[in-house]
Amino acid sequence: MTHSFDALILGGGAAGLMCAIEAGKLGRRVAVLEHSDRLGRKILISGGGRCNFTNVHCRPENFISSNPHFAKSALARYTPADFIALVQKHGIRYHEKTLGQLFCDRSARDILGMLEAECREASVNIFLSTKIQQVERTADFLVRAPNADFRAPKLVVATGGLSVPKTGATSFGYDLARQFGVAIREPWPGLVPLTLGPDDCSRYCDLAGVSAEVVASLMTPNGPRQFREKMLITHRGLSGPAILQISSYWKKPRPLQIDLAPEREVTAAFRDPTTPRNPGALRAELRKFLPHRLSDRWVDLHPPTSWTNRALADLERHAHTWTLSPSGTEGYDKAEVTAGGVDTAELSAKTMECRNVPGLFFIGEVVDVTGHLGGFNFQWAWASGAAAGRAL
Ligand SMILES: Cc1cc2nc3c(=O)[nH]c(=O)nc-3n(C[C@H](O)[C@H](O)[C@H](O)COP(=O)(O)OP(=O)(O)OC[C@H]3O[C@@H](n4cnc5c(N)ncnc54)[C@H](O)[C@@H]3O)c2cc1C
Repeated sequence: MTHSFDALILGGGAAGLMCAIEAGKLGRRVAVLEHSDRLGRKILISGGGRCNFTNVHCRPENFISSNPHFAKSALARYTPADFIALVQKHGIRYHEKTLGQLFCDRSARDILGMLEAECREASVNIFLSTKIQQVERTADFLVRAPNADFRAPKLVVATGGLSVPKTGATSFGYDLARQFGVAIREPWPGLVPLTLGPDDCSRYCDLAGVSAEVVASLMTPNGPRQFREKMLITHRGLSGPAILQISSYWKKPRPLQIDLAPEREVTAAFRDPTTPRNPGALRAELRKFLPHRLSDRWVDLHPPTSWTNRALADLERHAHTWTLSPSGTEGYDKAEVTAGGVDTAELSAKTMECRNVPGLFFIGEVVDVTGHLGGFNFQWAWASGAAAGRAL
């Protein structure tokens, strides 16, 4: 049996559903083919179950891509305000947590429920548990699944990235791009905890659970990157928002610099001649802005070479540029996102359609556009989905 539609959308996640809704609203007959037995698994686990669905401060600078200009057009034509209007239309209660991040008050299920309701209203056809075996191009695209074939002149790939395979993530989108000769920028895990080698781990990992506000920075070929947020020590290395953010820019063997005392002077008290110059006094100073266990450990492992003003100045510098060389990342199992992906040079920035394969579109995480932590990845999914949906 062959089902015919105006467009087939492969993947029923954030981007695929938004694309289907926008196309359906324009009267297109669209089908979403999802291999899992339910839609939007990643939406359900996102934001700790509350879905950080957008960020009110969304700007092109919040995205990583080989072409930093590519995302601008889609982001300008479907903004956080557009998604917030949809959320409000459905009476979903939400709040701003920090740094412009919007979360559901109740549950991420509200966002998925909203998208499902919009799909129903736009007469979108959903096919769950549909394992795609083959995609062919004749005059139309022909998608073969075990129980049925699907045919349409337009095909949208919205199958996401490689992160968290247990949610249904596959390499399908990249494989299909290769099949049609569409170039890929080598993917890598982003927003992921970093691991430390055995030496550094034996020094710090027993402090697992300790967190501190730091500036994490590193040098990339495009200049320095830095994030001021919390860092968390884990059993295997480092995590927390500052580390997750910087991890998207990290490539082995780039060293990482941690400013343990942003905008603070660790050794200021030692200008007072009545302050004793000894490890106890130094620990007490660091304890003013770092958790005690971390400040004590850091002083034990990085004592000043002497108590002269020059040695204290060196220590001051060291506390702001503590350098660590991560051994790796926790990989796709723990990565919140997959960076890299379908090369944006292959796509129209306005419609997400392949320049050299008319009728074939790529949207969402499978594209080489990766958001920072804080609702930006969903905003890209909504914006790129809407851009393609309106062009079908
Ligand atoms: C734990 C976690 C928490 C996150 N929290 C947030 C957050 O709070 N805010 C934020 O902005 N981002 C968050 N993200 C990132 C965000 O979830 C993704 O960037 C976003 O879901 C990408 O949307 P997408 O539609 O491109 O891909 P996905 O949402 O991954 O959807 C892809 C869909 O395609 C299906 N699929 C895959 N292969 C096939 C195939 N072969 N055939 C058919 N279907 C297929 C999948 O089952 C899935 O339903 C989080 C990610 C994770 C892992």
